[in-house]
Amino acid sequence: MEGSAPEDYFETVTLNSGEKLKAHSKKYCTPPCAIHDPSNHVMKEWDLHWREDKAIFERICPHGIGHPDPDTVAYLEKTNPEYAKGIGIHGCDGCCVERTEAEEDRHLANEYNKGT
Ligand SMILES: [Zn+2]
Ligand SMILES: [Zn+2]
Ligand SMILES: [Zn+2]
Repeated sequence: MEGSAPEDYFETVTLNSGEKLKAHSKKYCTPPCAIHDPSNHVMKEWDLHWREDKAIFERICPHGIGHPDPDTVAYLEKTNPEYAKGIGIHGCDGCCVERTEAEEDRHLANEYNKGT
């Protein structure tokens, strides 16, 4: 049983950016999900972009800057906390400012660390 996904687990999805990607099918989706069921965050309408190198989704803001998708980050924090730690770091133009409480806490913690 372990390691073998059901035959219909994967399907080719077309992201709102027009990008095509092999991902889990909607049937096996566990919301919130960047592809099928984004949570109510500030970037949910933006184009989704799969970052092969980081293995995360990014949201492309109207200025063409990629911001890590919050649902992807939240998922990683649950499943792979070690990896999730550095994943929020990006060249930000300030568009993804609306943070969840947990993100805000971490952001503030980082600010404090910087300040000393
Ligand atoms: Zn999904
Ligand atoms: Zn922007
Ligand atoms: Zn950002």
